[in-house]
Amino acid sequence: MSSELRSGFACTECGEWHDELPLQYSFKAPRAIVNVPLDQREQRVVITPDQCVIDNRDFYLRGRILLPIIGRQDPFVWGVWAEVSPASFIRANQLWHAAGRENEPPFSGWLNSEIFIFGDTINLELDVHTQPVGHRPQFTVSNPRHPLGVEQRSGISLERAQEIAEMILHRSQTK
Ligand SMILES: [Zn+2]
Repeated sequence: MSSELRSGFACTECGEWHDELPLQYSFKAPRAIVNVPLDQREQRVVITPDQCVIDNRDFYLRGRILLPIIGRQDPFVWGVWAEVSPASFIRANQLWHAAGRENEPPFSGWLNSEIFIFGDTINLELDVHTQPVGHRPQFTVSNPRHPLGVEQRSGISLERAQEIAEMILHRSQTK
């Protein structure tokens, strides 16, 4: 899990001072990988920092869900994985080094990371927006009424970023 250094915060969960307020969280692999027993992963899973294929049949791309932070230049980032169709995966591969690929129309994906603070997020529908060469795709939540979709469209406050940090640090579901 990578994170960006910020000034710390007084935690309302545990009452301690935490030295860092992360504005970025990322998942190293799609969630589906846990369904493959450890001793079979080498045979059945192909994974890079950006792509994953399971059993030559299920295809995943890593991307970013950006939430504007109100009053700040840099967004809050969920670094997550989306399952995509075989055709979309092949297309993304063909365009991997293609200049201008960001002009591709968005395509559908389904979230394959569990952001537990929003409950069950597996298979949440996404629109995948291809970015210029060298950048991971951006994902937007298709349903504007899903809580994550709302935060993506309206942005979040730094206080909300702290609330997220507290829930993740202490794995609690309190809101
Ligand atoms: Zn705490």
